[in-house]
Amino acid sequence: MTKAAFIYSQELEKFHYPPEHPFNTIRPKKTRDVLNSMGLLSGDGRSEVAPVPADRLTLKKFHSARYLHALKTASQGRWDSEALNMGIGTSDCPVFEGLYEYAVLATGGTLVAANLLLSGSADAAFNPSGGFHHAHPERASGFCYINDVALACHILAEQSKRVLYVDVDVHHGDGVAYAFYGRCDVMTISFHEDPRILFPGTGFEDEIGTGKGKGYCVNVPLPVGTYDQAYMKAFEEIAIPLMAAYKPDVIVFELGADALAGDPLAHLYLTNNVYADIITHLLRLNKPILMTGGGGYNIDNTVRAWALAWTVLCGADSGNADNPPLGGVMLESTDWQGGFRDRALAVSSQQRDAVMPAVEATIEAIKTNIFPIHGL
Ligand SMILES: [Zn+2]
Repeated sequence: MTKAAFIYSQELEKFHYPPEHPFNTIRPKKTRDVLNSMGLLSGDGRSEVAPVPADRLTLKKFHSARYLHALKTASQGRWDSEALNMGIGTSDCPVFEGLYEYAVLATGGTLVAANLLLSGSADAAFNPSGGFHHAHPERASGFCYINDVALACHILAEQSKRVLYVDVDVHHGDGVAYAFYGRCDVMTISFHEDPRILFPGTGFEDEIGTGKGKGYCVNVPLPVGTYDQAYMKAFEEIAIPLMAAYKPDVIVFELGADALAGDPLAHLYLTNNVYADIITHLLRLNKPILMTGGGGYNIDNTVRAWALAWTVLCGADSGNADNPPLGGVMLESTDWQGGFRDRALAVSSQQRDAVMPAVEATIEAIKTNIFPIHGL
């Protein structure tokens, strides 16, 4: 039986980005509520664990003191051009009331999850309030202030764990990739939309790490319109052999749900069945998994995807893609009686012709550049 921890507390509900901002802090609460109402948060080894704010000493393992000070000061309503130069107070990373407390609590949730795995108290943990993969040591970026996932990887690696970081948010997981760009004890694999089209503009297939880290940074850029089969082909041909060769001790999985069809900020065409399949693959490694949230700007679709991900993570998923439920990413339906899985989406031959050759070319480039380093 999997011991799985869902990281949440009502304390998180106090904080909100400005109303016009796409990042909605209500998503974890909604995910929690739907799981709870279906009896999926407790029993069978499942438990709910409250986050505790990350302490400053830990935050300094990734962020500079200068940056943390500016963030805290801004949160109290005072910020200047120096803060702005560090990305604090931009339209992407606005200052809002309690910003510092929120970022530190959300990050604390991911670190609580990491420690549950380290102590053996849990085999799997999900912090839907985590996944701020764009934050840099001294720069807020892409709705992210404190990089909880980079910190978690760092803390796990400090305990001599070989860390596998997998990022399926539609945007490149740049903050994490660059944090470990020169290291071989944290392998980062990011699947994301073509950086020529989407923020943050990095994550090309030839960014593969440097020095000892060469071959341990894997970027899989995907064309507009990428659909389930094309995505899973890339995952199966790239991630699966690399994960097997790398032999991680622990997995950190950033599950931004903005690659789903219908996301207002991106242009991929996935259903949440992809996430379920990927988690199933990750579980086969039989190692502890720390899963976080991330992007996801269609709220209902994101909540359903995260609820599904949790059920797969703790072995409680009963649905399957051959038995389609009533809801679905393109149906705008909130009737989830049939389960959390999206109905399969039709893919036109035109879309297939536009997507598959580009995905195949990317797969070949990565195989050429990275596989030999791992004896593949
Ligand atoms: Zn994203």
